[in-house]
Amino acid sequence: MATRGSRTVYGLIGRNVGYSWSPLIHNTAFEALGMPCVYTIFDIADPALVGDALRGARALGIQGFSVTIPYKKTVVPFLAELSPEAEAIGAVNTIVNDNGRLAGHNTDIAGFAAPLMPWADRIRGKRVCIFGNGGAALAAVEAFRTFFRPSSVLLFVRELKKAEEMLAGYEHRGLVVPCRTGDLDLPLGGQQLQECSVIVNATPIGTAGRKDPVRSIVPAGRELFHPGQIVYDMVYNPLTTTLLDDARAAGAETVSGIEMLVAQAAQAFFIWTGKEMPVGTVRSVLMREIGEPAPGGRG
Ligand code: NAP
Repeated sequence: MATRGSRTVYGLIGRNVGYSWSPLIHNTAFEALGMPCVYTIFDIADPALVGDALRGARALGIQGFSVTIPYKKTVVPFLAELSPEAEAIGAVNTIVNDNGRLAGHNTDIAGFAAPLMPWADRIRGKRVCIFGNGGAALAAVEAFRTFFRPSSVLLFVRELKKAEEMLAGYEHRGLVVPCRTGDLDLPLGGQQLQECSVIVNATPIGTAGRKDPVRSIVPAGRELFHPGQIVYDMVYNPLTTTLLDDARAAGAETVSGIEMLVAQAAQAFFIWTGKEMPVGTVRSVLMREIGEPAPGGRG
């Protein structure tokens, strides 16, 4: 849309993020609310330039950023303050520029929790599990701890030492029990999974366009899902994955990553603008776009 005059600028900082859905999400919201704002992508190839980028943003008056892989930790030293959530996991996915003072937040935590809220009573005091040892997995651990108080979080990883690396410096490490994904092939591993009230995929397995040897992080044909369980895939492209199809077929409840994608963006939008994102409009535009096979995969 051609306009006269200036617009307030927001953007995404990351590397190789050309396929992100974030511009569509935020520009749809700005347009729906008639706000003179624009959201764009700042693809930074060299990590050494992240500090320069943020100093430049203060000079230019860029009002806010989303931050994604691999810079969620890299940006921290350049920020004047961190929200308690960002501090808890040492990672920032949202920056707001308050008159030159940059503050870091993490909306992945509340964004992950939002679609689980209807089942909060079912989760409290029970065991849950997460697959993955990246930043999304740690955000999910912190979300469970803060909002749902499970008895423990089983963290299924390929290598136990990576779980230890992920948890280094995390104050609530005692809540988390690292397990090997390979142990799922043993009777005890399968039983542990069956006993979880929520199963979360925080790996990219299932994302459109990937050539993984397996289609789902949970082995097929083992009857590991059952009614009463909630299976949550952080993958949002495609909207429904093999993991969610298998879980639904076994009678479990399912949550698609699109819910987290929209919820974390809505919270960032509120932090930047003080306005509620029109999530219904944003979700339907996004679902229409993702409905088509797309080559991307990140928020
Ligand atoms: P990340 O830091 O790159 O971590 C990826 C994790 O997946 C690592 O633990 C990695 O294990 C594991 N993994 C990769 N390939 C695997 C395989 N073949 N088998 C088993 N584990 C495998 O990424 P992230 O930021 O945590 O994000 C993880 C996923 O969540 C991505 O798909 C991302 O798009 C999605 N996500 C979605 C939202 C949303 O709003 N819906 C938000 C954040 C993230 P190794 O260390 O062993 O390689």
